[in-house]
Amino acid sequence: MKITIIGSGYVGLVTGTCYAHMGNNVLCVDLDKEKIDRLTRGELPIYEPGLKELVESNLKEGRLSFDTNTTTAVRASEFIFIAVGTPKDRDGSADLRQVLEVARRIGEALDGYRIIITKSTVPVGTTKKVKQVIKEVLKERGLDLTFDVVSNPEFLKEGKAVSDFLNPDRIVIGTDSERAKERMRALYDPFCRTDENRIIFMDVASAELTKYAANAMLASRISLMNEIAAICEVTGANVDHVRVGIGSDNRIGFRFLFPGVGYGGSCFPKDVRALIKTAEELGIPSRVLTAIDQVNRQQPRQMVSKIKDYYGRNGLADKTFAIWGLSFKPETDDVRESPAAVIIESLLKKGANIKAYDPVAEETFQRTYALPIKYSQDMYECLEDADALILITEWHQFRRPDFARMRQVLAQPVIFDGRNQYEPDYVKARGFTCISIGRKSVSPDQPAG
Ligand code: NAD
Repeated sequence: MKITIIGSGYVGLVTGTCYAHMGNNVLCVDLDKEKIDRLTRGELPIYEPGLKELVESNLKEGRLSFDTNTTTAVRASEFIFIAVGTPKDRDGSADLRQVLEVARRIGEALDGYRIIITKSTVPVGTTKKVKQVIKEVLKERGLDLTFDVVSNPEFLKEGKAVSDFLNPDRIVIGTDSERAKERMRALYDPFCRTDENRIIFMDVASAELTKYAANAMLASRISLMNEIAAICEVTGANVDHVRVGIGSDNRIGFRFLFPGVGYGGSCFPKDVRALIKTAEELGIPSRVLTAIDQVNRQQPRQMVSKIKDYYGRNGLADKTFAIWGLSFKPETDDVRESPAAVIIESLLKKGANIKAYDPVAEETFQRTYALPIKYSQDMYECLEDADALILITEWHQFRRPDFARMRQVLAQPVIFDGRNQYEPDYVKARGFTCISIGRKSVSPDQPAG
């Protein structure tokens, strides 16, 4: 099958590469010439485990290619995926300019039947708008061509994007066209050899809303746990115990129950806000969604308050903090809406010095936020002479660090654990003060118990 992907970012590149891996001929397009040149040489502009090997092999075998020309790309394929960004607009709604611009370009290039697919996360009604824009452009060109526009939201997780795409939990397809339905089924059959029922067909509006509802549901679990953690801190309960206690109820399950410094990334924050905006435009109160967002915005600030409280009257001026983790979650270099940015900016404003280490996200963080930080190439070097470690992203390599070495290099043995990575009593026994989330704070000077 011939497939064109317009927009070769985190989603477009993974999507295109995985279709190529399944034996299709895929052309990925992007406006960014430098990105396309790098990809053509087999260099990856993003960090995503397992992706580089797949891009290299599919390039070599001639199933995957890259270009900047949308017109030839639209004419080359039967399936045209729109995978451009839908960032947060100033008022919180999804900014659809990239999607609608691509629709216009598709209308300008169309020369026969195509299936156009909105892969980008778009509010209900957008797929219909894409269809209208293409129709209008065709009318201006004096053409009356048949085409279908389908919604096929993407559920991959950065950090596990390749395996998510190759082994999806489900594939949601919104369409009212039998022709498009059959072709989409044929496209996705190889991804569902063991269970065809993973392809779920529905109407377009339901497919569009499914994506937002899924992200809002996952975000709600995190925000609820963060609120429970705040209650734990005041009552002396331990959120780890509460988490295990509720997660073992199989109606609840264990996933997405970790409290922390808040969710970030390019999806949850913007999608929850866009859904709030959709509800607002429809005159529907969005009390739950608003609370999810409010709790989350507060989480990184809560950590800053804990740090301020710890240093009390002496303040943060001239303190040096070592940050472990800059990406919004492990296994990615994506730093969009990373809680690290909020925490670091607040500490810098209060006169603190920041050193930071991240296994892969240093460059994207530096480029995105341009903050006066000293970046380290090594997690222990980052700690040298720092007054405390602040752990923000739970990369695997931070899970079992060498605490003896940490004590040697830190100026003070203090850990602010933003992801509850360390067992309080364990680190206390190794001479550390540890302040985490929803659990008792510990200090080596405290009596046991
Ligand atoms: P991204 O910013 O990484 O990539 C978007 C790409 O589109 C960029 O490379 C940009 O240069 C390109 N582009 C913009 N306008 C273009 C045009 N006119 N022609 C060609 N290329 C153009 O974004 P992303 O993270 O891949 O997200 C894309 C969409 O997928 C968004 O709607 C997002 O919400 C959704 N989504 C993202 C994820 C994720 O984990 N990143 C997961 C599921 C869904």
